[in-house]
Amino acid sequence: MARIAVVGAGIAGLVVAKELYQKKHDITIFDKGKSVGGRISNRRVTINQEEYIFEHGLSLLNRDFAHYELIKQYIDQNQLKTFEGKSVKITDDCFIPQNGEFLCSTSRITDLPKSFMDQHFHFNSQICIHQIQFKEDKWLLSSLAEMQTERDRHLVEDLTFGPFDILILAIPPKQLAPLVFDQHPEYAKLALSAKANSMWVNLCVFDESLQLPFDHYTFPKNSPFRALIKENAKPNRNYTKEAWTIQMGFQWSAQNLEKSNEEILPLILDELSAFCSAQGGQMQKTLFSEAHRWRYAHFEPNDSYPTYIFDPKDNMGICGDFLTGSHIIDVIFGSIMLSQEIGRNG
Ligand SMILES: Cc1cc2nc3c(=O)[nH]c(=O)nc-3n(C[C@H](O)[C@H](O)[C@H](O)COP(=O)(O)OP(=O)(O)OC[C@H]3O[C@@H](n4cnc5c(N)ncnc54)[C@H](O)[C@@H]3O)c2cc1C
Repeated sequence: MARIAVVGAGIAGLVVAKELYQKKHDITIFDKGKSVGGRISNRRVTINQEEYIFEHGLSLLNRDFAHYELIKQYIDQNQLKTFEGKSVKITDDCFIPQNGEFLCSTSRITDLPKSFMDQHFHFNSQICIHQIQFKEDKWLLSSLAEMQTERDRHLVEDLTFGPFDILILAIPPKQLAPLVFDQHPEYAKLALSAKANSMWVNLCVFDESLQLPFDHYTFPKNSPFRALIKENAKPNRNYTKEAWTIQMGFQWSAQNLEKSNEEILPLILDELSAFCSAQGGQMQKTLFSEAHRWRYAHFEPNDSYPTYIFDPKDNMGICGDFLTGSHIIDVIFGSIMLSQEIGRNG
């Protein structure tokens, strides 16, 4: 049994953790966030004593994935089902109906990453690993953590973890590059060359219905929007008011990336207002409107990249969507392949 450290509890890290745990290894996971899931995340908002849930990262899965055994199992267990809202794909010159083409979570999208967690993992949340060292054939990790003292003050304390036999880094490239630079400058260089798309996402609850004919829109690349998703159209979301997740387009987001939240909100709502008018809908007053900037939302697939990295000289593995491209099923397969490679190396 090897002691394995997995840094990053997004879907990539969790899949590799689960696979290696099934091979009887001892798994310790670190994440700088409070819980697991990374870019698969929910946001809960209470308005007039009613709770609304937004899926402000990955929201709907393409139904093409449904034939994969792994995804099929979630459908069989009723964790994922066909999105029954009205979907449409807008291209430069037409509207293509997409009804039945997407899967959504029956409860929360975070159930998907959570299903890879095992009670036997040692999970360290809110621990940001900022240094890794390979000493005497073992890995040592260091972090900075916020600590609460008896006097209610927050202190930053250095913590060290290890030794570990194997280290898996399942974190986005911007965070990966400084960690691996001393040990593997070639991987740092690769990570920094990954092409990231940023995305502004706005979560809105409206006082009245927008009266849009569809519940889910996807847009061409040159549009200000990437997708509009009516949260009420997902199962078990019988909200009193209309809640929309507005994913802005990659180009639009890149052009407006450095705007503050106060600056970006009116711009997004202006775009939405123009879209509503063009579609015969009606823009409404917001009861809630919050923007979230994902600097590294989505990675373009790059055929010259490996699907995963494993270096048997120091037992370090790397996985995640900057290697596979941001299609969840590819991310999962990249992690499974990494765990198989580790299995082959004992
Ligand atoms: C708005 C949005 C929409 C999307 N839409 C789609 C879609 O329609 N279809 C699709 O397939 N994919 C979509 N994606 C992409 C998909 O969510 C990602 O490809 C996938 O979740 C990436 O998983 P990951 O584990 O590689 O990375 P992440 O989910 O980013 O996980 C990395 C984890 O590492 C942690 N971490 C980082 N640095 C450290 C450190 N130093 N120490 C400790 N922990 C650290 C982070 O907190 C995070 O939890 C979307 C993403 C976003 C943001």
